[in-house]
Amino acid sequence: MKEVKTVALIAHDNKKQLMIEWAIKNKTVLEKYSLCGTGTTAKRVSDATGLCVKGYLSGPLGGDQQIGARVAEGTIDIVIFFCDPLQAQPHDPDVKALLRIANVYNVAIATNPATADLVITSSLL
Ligand code: PGA
Repeated sequence: MKEVKTVALIAHDNKKQLMIEWAIKNKTVLEKYSLCGTGTTAKRVSDATGLCVKGYLSGPLGGDQQIGARVAEGTIDIVIFFCDPLQAQPHDPDVKALLRIANVYNVAIATNPATADLVITSSLL
């Protein structure tokens, strides 16, 4: 297993502020990881924290699928995905595909801050 784990960050529009606050709160932990994310989420987290976050395409334009492909390749270890349970997403099939592929490969995927806190601080990492 590689030494530096890779964490993917994704947040739906109504959850982006939550993601930014979560990333600021966990900045010192996140500094230990290689970070990537869907386009807008990556840029906003990077701007707010100064962390280096590799950005893929925006989620609705294929970013979720790009991250899903990396999960399948085994190059993403943790997915932090603050999804919006109260609003329909145009790219819902991609969202479901990412959740599915994370389960196929037994990759930790946290869909709310409570779970994300547990995952990111786990001694199992
Ligand atoms: P975004 O994508 O970070 O580019 O907004 C997130 C999503 O909606 O999947």
